[in-house]
Amino acid sequence: MNNCIFCKIIAKELAVDLVYESESVVAFKDIHPLAPVHILIIPKKHIATINDLTGNDFELVGKMMMAAKQIATDLAIAEKGYRLLFRVGEWGGQEVLHIHLHLIGGARMHEEIYPVSI
Ligand code: 5GP
Ligand code: ZN
Repeated sequence: MNNCIFCKIIAKELAVDLVYESESVVAFKDIHPLAPVHILIIPKKHIATINDLTGNDFELVGKMMMAAKQIATDLAIAEKGYRLLFRVGEWGGQEVLHIHLHLIGGARMHEEIYPVSI
């Protein structure tokens, strides 16, 4: 049994605020937003980290990026700008081991709300 929380979200076993869904990608609001807009874009296929991508995932990652662009446009933050972020592995601060693209925006980014602290 797959214990991944993002797979449970994809299976609709956990409720989220869905903002986008296609045959291969889902996007929803982050439960702990770092900014006025904070969306997680995930593939329906379980892939633990960016390190686990294979050549077969080339198109899927492109679809995640295209979803980010579409969502930013739909949420009216595209023109002002936003940030896209993948955390990878332990040192990258990745907590959920199912790849997810953070779309963060709705306010001018200052380094203190950039989701990195070293
Ligand atoms: P990471 O630190 O792995 O890059 O990001 C994981 C993100 O998933 C965090 O920003 C966290 O707030 C979000 N998150 C974790 N569990 C849930 C959940 O059950 N629902 C939603 N909507 N977001 C979650
Ligand atoms: Zn998963």
